[in-house]
Amino acid sequence: MAVLNYVESALRPEDAVYDQVVPAGEGWMHTIRKGQSFRIVDLEGNQAVDTLFYSAEDPEERYSAVDTIREQGNLFLSTGSKLISTEGEVLLTITADTCGRHDTVGGACSAESNTVRYALDKKHMHSCRDTFLLEMATCDHRLYPWGKRDLAANINFFMTVPVTPEGALTFADGVSEPGKYVELRAEMDVVCVISNCPQLNNPCNAYNPTPVRLLIWGADV
Ligand SMILES: [Zn+2]
Repeated sequence: MAVLNYVESALRPEDAVYDQVVPAGEGWMHTIRKGQSFRIVDLEGNQAVDTLFYSAEDPEERYSAVDTIREQGNLFLSTGSKLISTEGEVLLTITADTCGRHDTVGGACSAESNTVRYALDKKHMHSCRDTFLLEMATCDHRLYPWGKRDLAANINFFMTVPVTPEGALTFADGVSEPGKYVELRAEMDVVCVISNCPQLNNPCNAYNPTPVRLLIWGADV
């Protein structure tokens, strides 16, 4: 598959102010300040990184997949994509991308979808929805009183969900490879919630969840 919008970043990992590896199946929540650059590296390839963004100032304002798709007139995210909030503001802009496309229509895996897509005995398996809820349950509720109702449509970085000419969604083998990354510039202070997908039942992460590396550049005020 052709890599569209391939843009490398000039930022060097040794200059990052934050650098952490998140193992497969783990969650992560962090505030990214306006002007900071945030990179997600697919360390071993074909991982799916389920991601939500919220305004750090207003916990009611969050990433809106439908507004983002409408504004850019394209279903896939890549370099130049502006991630639009429920208030019509730009949360972040994708400034570099060596993978080429990222999904925002496939949603996050859950116990329920695991049983519908695969089998009833998959219900107990760890899912992104569980990871999101765990992160939300353990953050500071005085600042961010998030719960089930705050699980908006998410982004699946590095995941491929091709859309057929008839409009059907299909899950396909990932197009990412070891070391591919996507980089975003925060246009306001945002809270990022990640589930590094633990899915073992579909080819989006090659049936083999793997770690990702998260880096941030710029002043942490
Ligand atoms: Zn998942």
